[in-house]
Amino acid sequence: MAIDFTLAPEHEEIRLRVREFVQGTIIPAVARPEDEEHALSRRDYLATIIGLREQAKALGLWLPHMPKEWGGMGLGHVELAMVQAEAGKTRVGPWVLNCMAPDEGNMHTLLHWGNDDQKERYLRPLCDGTVMSCFAMTEPEVAGSDPTLIRTHAEKDGDEWIINGHKWFISNARRSQFAILIARTELDVPEGSSGATTAFIVDIPSQGWNDVREVETMHGSTGHSEIVIEDLRVKDEQILGGRGNGHRLGQARLGPARLAHCMRWIAQAETALDMMVDRSIHRYSHGSTLAEKQGVQWMIADSAMELYQCKLMVLHTAYKIDRGDDFRTEVSMTKHFVANSLNRIIDRAIQVHGALGYSTDTPLASMLQHARWARLADGADEIHQMRIAERTIAAYKDSGTTSSATGALPI
Ligand SMILES: Cc1cc2nc3c(=O)[nH]c(=O)nc-3n(C[C@H](O)[C@H](O)[C@H](O)COP(=O)(O)OP(=O)(O)OC[C@H]3O[C@@H](n4cnc5c(N)ncnc54)[C@H](O)[C@@H]3O)c2cc1C
Repeated sequence: MAIDFTLAPEHEEIRLRVREFVQGTIIPAVARPEDEEHALSRRDYLATIIGLREQAKALGLWLPHMPKEWGGMGLGHVELAMVQAEAGKTRVGPWVLNCMAPDEGNMHTLLHWGNDDQKERYLRPLCDGTVMSCFAMTEPEVAGSDPTLIRTHAEKDGDEWIINGHKWFISNARRSQFAILIARTELDVPEGSSGATTAFIVDIPSQGWNDVREVETMHGSTGHSEIVIEDLRVKDEQILGGRGNGHRLGQARLGPARLAHCMRWIAQAETALDMMVDRSIHRYSHGSTLAEKQGVQWMIADSAMELYQCKLMVLHTAYKIDRGDDFRTEVSMTKHFVANSLNRIIDRAIQVHGALGYSTDTPLASMLQHARWARLADGADEIHQMRIAERTIAAYKDSGTTSSATGALPI
């Protein structure tokens, strides 16, 4: 019987080392700035993070998602799930291990689509942790849910391209030394065609790349930039993955990147459930603790069941990626389910905490603010539902059963 959920001893050892580093070193080191955002200067805070990153490197807990030849831990996606789920117990954990979005997705993209020169120039320093990057696809004027509508366009001029356009919500742009930018190059291709766009690597700063503001969001100003692109010139060799492949590259990038988000969201959901239970066993009302109230037990039980489903879905999708199977339906189902479970579980934890949950004395309010974007970015709920339904209907039409669209499991 090949189904086995135990980890190999060497992977269990890694998981425990990551847990120890996150719980024993990272969380205590960043506790103050996270709790009292303005108590420490940004400079001190960054120095702390940089110091932690050096420690992670020295401990061999660096780049869990990258192959060993690039300085990574050489883990498969199943093992990565447990590392990300440990690192995600604090928001800076993935930064310290250098496996955070959007750099993590960009590293995969450069590894698989970059030529040797691009890998040395952009991937190498990203892996070393000496530069940061961003991914620029979404535009305010057209629906980000349909990237074939992209209007930012690049016109060929000799061995250069002149790019004009407008992007927004470009995470990490202000900290980045380069961007992977998606622009329309095939102007004669009809709107809606997936072959109309090309990915370019853009050095930052570059003349014509204008970071006009950081968009203020419901969790504050967090580094999601609006970029106005005016007559930005890039060379032919800055094309990544070949002309006309922008859509394909973007979609390929998003698959594992969505799953990596889910791995980190599991950590946040588990923290919320832990807090819910802890509060319920210590709070007393109407003759018993909250944990003894059926209404509270239902919230705990629903959350535990959902978190269990989240973990199984993440592990199964990771397993499919590792095997080289088609995982598109599974990653859509997982991303949708984990994002919604995360929101529900944090919301229930707030409910059980009462006024304290609504306050900023606990991390729950901030966690809910951050969790909300999970349902609309990297594929909104409805887009994933649309794709899941399409593939389920197609499976039935092809084979007379929907079985292959529900994980293709042997039951
Ligand atoms: C915190 C955060 C970080 C981000 N980081 C980046 C980044 O680094 N780089 C980048 O390029 N982008 C980034 N984005 C943008 C993100 O990818 C887009 O928000 C997302 O693709 C949705 O596009 P949109 O906002 O234009 O919404 P729209 O496409 O306008 O959709 C709005 C809503 O309409 C509904 N909808 C849309 N299409 C359909 C449909 N076909 N059927 C049914 N309902 C539909 C959905 O409910 C959807 O939420 C980020 C967004 C956030 C919030």
